[in-house]
Amino acid sequence: MSQKLSERLKSLVGGPGCGSRRQTKSRDDAQTALRTCPDCEKTFIVDEMERCPDCGVVVEETPTERDLGLL
Ligand SMILES: [Zn+2]
Repeated sequence: MSQKLSERLKSLVGGPGCGSRRQTKSRDDAQTALRTCPDCEKTFIVDEMERCPDCGVVVEETPTERDLGLL
């Protein structure tokens, strides 16, 4: 009874082997750094930020995986 529906869903979702997802990372070279506020333990993805906008504490620069040479 519901077979037609599931078939239709499959075609909507796109079955296996449908398509190679190639997303070009054009922003790979962007100098985006992670900053972590030691106080509220929030992590911000920003280029430049000295202080946490929430509490005003000086944020710490968090090395990304890339910086660590993992990527
Ligand atoms: Zn904070």
